[in-house]
Amino acid sequence: MSMTQRPLTTIGFDADDTLWQNEQFYRLTERQFIELLADHAESENISQELLETEKRNLHRYGFGIKGFTLSMIETAIEITKGEVPTTVIAQILDIGRDLLAHPVETLPNVRETLEALTGNYLLVLITKGDLFDQERKLAQSGLGDLFDAIEIVSDKNASTYRRIFSKVGDGPERAMMVGNSLKSDIVPALAAGSYGVFVPHELTWAFEHVAEPTEAPRFRKIEHLGELRGVIDGLG
Ligand SMILES: [Mg+2]
Repeated sequence: MSMTQRPLTTIGFDADDTLWQNEQFYRLTERQFIELLADHAESENISQELLETEKRNLHRYGFGIKGFTLSMIETAIEITKGEVPTTVIAQILDIGRDLLAHPVETLPNVRETLEALTGNYLLVLITKGDLFDQERKLAQSGLGDLFDAIEIVSDKNASTYRRIFSKVGDGPERAMMVGNSLKSDIVPALAAGSYGVFVPHELTWAFEHVAEPTEAPRFRKIEHLGELRGVIDGLG
């Protein structure tokens, strides 16, 4: 395939809540966690405390379920002022392990869209999180063969996208990033000079919320992945 003269050659896809469900499983686990601590604090306080602990730990643990589990334990210790029973700690470890085994549920229009694009564009999966967990989800999704490259990264910023799109494709200007997080997928990809296609998911982690960059000429927004080909065709 000739790559010259084409406005777009390379498409990056976020994984969690773009290709498959993710946040809903975290929310379920958080509800179980709140129930475990119900005798010690109000549920809103537990949620708030957990989010604060996660944010504080991100730069050490990175994104993913193992770090989330450690943050649940830390929150339990804080909320109970050190009185949390070891049986509750064991239950927290259990719900963390359950989260690592959640079923992979592909979102609507994902497979058809990837099948239509693969071969015509270089497709690269770009995701944060625990390496082991993301590899498991990719294997279970059955989508792995549709991608030309898989990049599991510790953070997503403009230089991440510049590096990946230069390595896999022919630079960020002829690349597009598709994802459900404005903060991680869209804003930094736009800053790198790529197109950013925002696919909102009804559940998005509070940490990932920022304003929509509606003024950016390369910003696009779609309702679901089935609309992606229309956006690509519109680039000419
Ligand atoms: Mg995501």
